[in-house]
Amino acid sequence: MVVVAATALAAPLLLSPSPAHGHASRGPAEDAAELSRQLVDSASAEGAYRHLERFQAIAESSDGHRAAGTSGHDASAAHVHRLLRKAGYRVAYQAFDFTYTETLAEKLSVLSPTPREISIRAMTYTASTEEGGIEAALAAVPTDGTTGCEAADYAAGFTGTIALIERGGCSFAEKQAAAAAAGAVGAVIYNNVEGALAGTLGDAAAGKIPTGGLTRAEGEKLVADLSKGEVRVSLEIRESREERTTRNVVAETRGGNPARTVMLGAHLDSVTDGPGINDNATGSAGLLDVALKLAESHRTPANKVRFAWWSAEENGLLGSEAYVAKLPEARRADIALYLNFDMIASPNGVQFVFDGDDSDGAGAGPGPEGSAQLEHDINAFLDSKGKPHTGTDFSGRSDYGPFIEVGIPSGGTDTGAEGVKTADQAKTYGGTAGIAYDPCYHAACDDLGNIDMRHFDTNIDVIAHAVGTYAHDLSSLTRPVPATSADDESRSGGGLRKGHAPGATE
Ligand SMILES: [Zn+2]
Repeated sequence: MVVVAATALAAPLLLSPSPAHGHASRGPAEDAAELSRQLVDSASAEGAYRHLERFQAIAESSDGHRAAGTSGHDASAAHVHRLLRKAGYRVAYQAFDFTYTETLAEKLSVLSPTPREISIRAMTYTASTEEGGIEAALAAVPTDGTTGCEAADYAAGFTGTIALIERGGCSFAEKQAAAAAAGAVGAVIYNNVEGALAGTLGDAAAGKIPTGGLTRAEGEKLVADLSKGEVRVSLEIRESREERTTRNVVAETRGGNPARTVMLGAHLDSVTDGPGINDNATGSAGLLDVALKLAESHRTPANKVRFAWWSAEENGLLGSEAYVAKLPEARRADIALYLNFDMIASPNGVQFVFDGDDSDGAGAGPGPEGSAQLEHDINAFLDSKGKPHTGTDFSGRSDYGPFIEVGIPSGGTDTGAEGVKTADQAKTYGGTAGIAYDPCYHAACDDLGNIDMRHFDTNIDVIAHAVGTYAHDLSSLTRPVPATSADDESRSGGGLRKGHAPGATE
């Protein structure tokens, strides 16, 4: 009896298909305004923070991270799944297989003429050296616009050497393949901009020789050393690979018209280098808090609302790709819109909104029809709160990518990754110009201390407003938006671009 009673209580009335309690039927615009107001008031950074604490604790008891295919991600997914089920949602795990990789060694030592250690980052899907590494002479590939991209770049003779190659002009995969074809036994690629070079060869079959990335300063120092004579190095790069299974968590309201489904997503997995609190426990916790507040609101949305917590985003958007690939074509048309939230509390952040209409004219073109309206709605909401915002290129580099590929209107926000804050942005948003939006991006220090609560709260309000509005009213998606005149401040200025997961490939 006790069990039965508890189960009955666990399914809130609001999510059942019964009519909203008490109110006489009104227009969708009024319902939207009322629910939106209620969710913006109830969802908050403080409410979501307890989930961040949970994700931090999970990482601490799971080798320091919550990467897809590991216990840290499994426990994170179980936390989300349990709370949503208790709140009355229809919750499902969606399993898929992927190639799990982990760096086992990344070490570069100069042996002669003057021994020293150099910090190097193994590239994902690299070939591995034997344990203990390999010793060889270093050989610099002459620099041009496409250093080390073509066979002719290796005319000087690279057999048995470790090729030292400047970044740029083609992919890392092409560079190491050309070096391998010329007989090199390893490839060391150095940056052509500031910062560490953590890249990927793009897919598991690409790795020909052990390959790692250096800073520009280290690369140029080695080139200078080589101009004076032979430099012998020891290189150890090792990666383990394994087929593993991981799971998305997908939850939807029991009520609401499924032919008008409103969908929002955030990736729940971290990289293996750290707990992934800003990237992306923040988006995950923001969605979760709003979903739970929607359940507590005891209202039945007119449209079905579906939330997704993706896995293996950091491995190349694999969770969202698997979801869209498995979605029958007839069901695609049911998804009225998709909104993505990835890194919403960057400590030195900027309020970026995806440039759905390409009004900034930067990078990729506009998103599918309706994307311009989603951008406009988010901007209008931020304007109403007196919050500044900045457009960011609609590059497809997070989980909305697979959605725009099949023509689903998409949008979302982020607060910046490894991009560097400009002086203008520091004037508008505070923080420090000349350093990254998130200096702990993909690093061990992306922990509870690495978030900005104001950015977190603003973006949770964006999520709450979108859920409240679109749950009842999709009319803005087909309304023409006024032509935007982007001034300098609202132009594209960073966000999740080159270097965000799945990692730079060139
Ligand atoms: Zn992310």
